[in-house]
Amino acid sequence: MRAAMQRPYRLSCHCGEIAIEVDAELSRLVECNCSTCRRSGFLHWKVDAAAVRLLTEKRRMSTYIWRGIGEGHHFCPTCGTAILRSGYPGDRVSLNARCIEGVDVFTLEVDRYDGRNDMPPGPLP
Ligand SMILES: [Zn+2]
Repeated sequence: MRAAMQRPYRLSCHCGEIAIEVDAELSRLVECNCSTCRRSGFLHWKVDAAAVRLLTEKRRMSTYIWRGIGEGHHFCPTCGTAILRSGYPGDRVSLNARCIEGVDVFTLEVDRYDGRNDMPPGPLP
């Protein structure tokens, strides 16, 4: 893994309203072809929730929920950037690695997850 930046990493949405700092190793990135990921282009970077700090406090974030009440797809209500997902087992969250500042995603090693076929069936839009 070629990490272009030092920890902690800073992530932001396109308009800058939401900024997040993550102090974790930048590895094990996963792209998924499920019904939501294929549309948003979310590039999963799963870390412990404790490693994540919201730099822009008390800002409005929009949340899309499907399947489970505890699984939130969080995105900026102004520019629409999908930046964070919550509700993973073991107090983990997933950041969108495409939002990391100063990192060219083309330099990152990315695995694929066949969410389209592997995930439990749900309402498929
Ligand atoms: Zn924004």
